[in-house]
Amino acid sequence: MKILVTGGAGFIGSAVVRLAISRGYEVVNLDALTYAACLENLATVADSPLYSFEHADIRDREALTEIFTRHRPDAVMHLAAESHVDRSIDGPDDFIQTNIVGTFNILEAARKYWSDAGKPDKFRFHHISTDEVFGSLSADPADRFHEETPYSPRSPYSASKASSDHLVRAWHETYGLPVVLTNCSNNYGPNQFPEKLIPVVILNAVSECPIPIYGNGSNVRDWLFVLDHAEALLRVVEAGRVGRSYNIGGDNERSNLDIVQAICAILDDIRPRANGKPYADLITYVADRPGHDARYAIDASRARDELGWRPSVTVEEGLRTTIGWYLDNESWWRPMLERQGLGKRLGTGRRAA
Ligand code: NAD
Repeated sequence: MKILVTGGAGFIGSAVVRLAISRGYEVVNLDALTYAACLENLATVADSPLYSFEHADIRDREALTEIFTRHRPDAVMHLAAESHVDRSIDGPDDFIQTNIVGTFNILEAARKYWSDAGKPDKFRFHHISTDEVFGSLSADPADRFHEETPYSPRSPYSASKASSDHLVRAWHETYGLPVVLTNCSNNYGPNQFPEKLIPVVILNAVSECPIPIYGNGSNVRDWLFVLDHAEALLRVVEAGRVGRSYNIGGDNERSNLDIVQAICAILDDIRPRANGKPYADLITYVADRPGHDARYAIDASRARDELGWRPSVTVEEGLRTTIGWYLDNESWWRPMLERQGLGKRLGTGRRAA
């Protein structure tokens, strides 16, 4: 199978590219290389004859059409997106253009290519989305997102992803494009851009900087290790039922405060502070994110029952691996800290200067 992966230089996309190549698939990585991209994430596969890179923007329909014609993929895995909720609050424009208009463009380019090829049944358009499209849950543990949960996005980011999900379903219902969709929970792991919670906590802690917690830290998320997610995505593109969506979660619900304390405890164990104090002393409560969803939790039973997928690690195991990776890979994250917006408080609703 030849897979066109969009956003393959990002955090999750690069894990998908590496895994797909290790399985013997041919991969075309299409990425605009925005502030969040890092081609070094692909260093282990860059020289593989199975890998190729197309520097292109999903806002450019002509470029997409030309890439489809030249590469003739069997499947598309569409991950390219603006992905940071805080940035969507400060400046939603790029989220609308990339996540909605860009998805429209790639759907149209895929539809043309698929139609011109005689509408092969085996073609797949796999759209990768988020559980944030479903809104916010109550504290009741029985309350979880399933595939039929009504959409109720509450941030510019989640609204843009919800829009793109609706477009993908419409292209299936209206034009018959063979699509599959996935909605996953919060990912973490190696190579995550250091503006998301877990790398921010690790890097602030080891730099002896305050560790920011939004509000009182009670917001609950389900944490999914990125390599488990990549495995789930490949199973969906290989064996998912056309027109269907699959929720992917880590079975690891934790409050933000619990996650931060768990990271601090692991660091106390493997990299104690020079002053002998616990890292948790660095925790600092800051103003909450506007519209901060209280709780997300995933019912992933469809992926488990139909595809035999389940997460392979607990959050404690995944965090140890992730922290070890950041401690060993300063040459990866140090240059990232120079990128636009890093180290600043984003998402307060005031556009960054
Ligand atoms: P990321 O921000 O790390 O990477 C996004 C990639 O997309 C980057 O390489 C970037 O250069 C590329 N990109 C952005 N705009 C583009 C454009 N206009 N044209 C072409 N390429 C463009 O994101 P991620 O965390 O790896 O997320 C990947 C996907 O998974 C996204 O669609 C996101 O919505 C979804 N998702 C992420 C999470 C998470 O926890 N990270 C959770 C649920 C869903």
